[in-house]
Amino acid sequence: KLSKRLEAVASFVPTGAVVADIGSDHAYLPCYLVHNGIVKKAIAGEVVKGPYESAIKQVKLEGLEDNITVRLADGLKAVEKSDGVNTITIAGMGGPLIVSILDKCPEVLHSVTRLILQPNIHAKVIREWAIRNGWAILDEVILKEDEKIYEILVLQRGAMELSEQEILLGKKLMAKQTEVFAEKWSKEIENWKRILTSLDLAGGTEDIVKKREDIQRLIKLVEEA
Ligand code: SAM
Repeated sequence: KLSKRLEAVASFVPTGAVVADIGSDHAYLPCYLVHNGIVKKAIAGEVVKGPYESAIKQVKLEGLEDNITVRLADGLKAVEKSDGVNTITIAGMGGPLIVSILDKCPEVLHSVTRLILQPNIHAKVIREWAIRNGWAILDEVILKEDEKIYEILVLQRGAMELSEQEILLGKKLMAKQTEVFAEKWSKEIENWKRILTSLDLAGGTEDIVKKREDIQRLIKLVEEA
């Protein structure tokens, strides 16, 4: 059975899409998509040998070799032009790593109409990347599984303007105000307040004063939301 997290990622894959799942590990997500009749064709990309072999093994085990191609490659290099990929999923990594993967091969994105990204941390950098590169947020989800909180961002082509607050928290997530959202940000605030206390003990150099101000601003932004 697929994790709740990957099931949520899968729920945003359009029926009939051609998907590349980058950093696929066991290729659980592409296998699920094919088994559930959501897609017929998928690429599973892995840059590390061990997970690449796990993906090959899983695809064989499930008898999906005709539908899923597993490639050992760095990021979007797993995608070839003739694949006709129009949807990319990248899940289970930090936001900065996801952004660096997207930035490395911009030409692969030309044929892509939907990105489904699931950063474990720092979703903010993905929103910034989206604004810079002409992508807009179609939907956002925040969920909790095994005591961890995850965000999923669904992007499609388009212009988008976000305030600093919306970049940090997610405009759609702010509008939904779920319990998990409140939990995530109360924890962040607690954490920032702890940092402020330790900075209080560290003295008053220019650097520290600046750091304090930055954190106080963040706390204010989040509390207002
Ligand atoms: N996507 C799966 C999930 O969400 O459950 C697996 C997540 S796993 C924590 C991250 C995977 O990304 C690892 O298997 C790692 O080898 C792979 N990875 C990291 N950087 C990559 C890159 N540049 N290109 C392809 N795969 C990468």
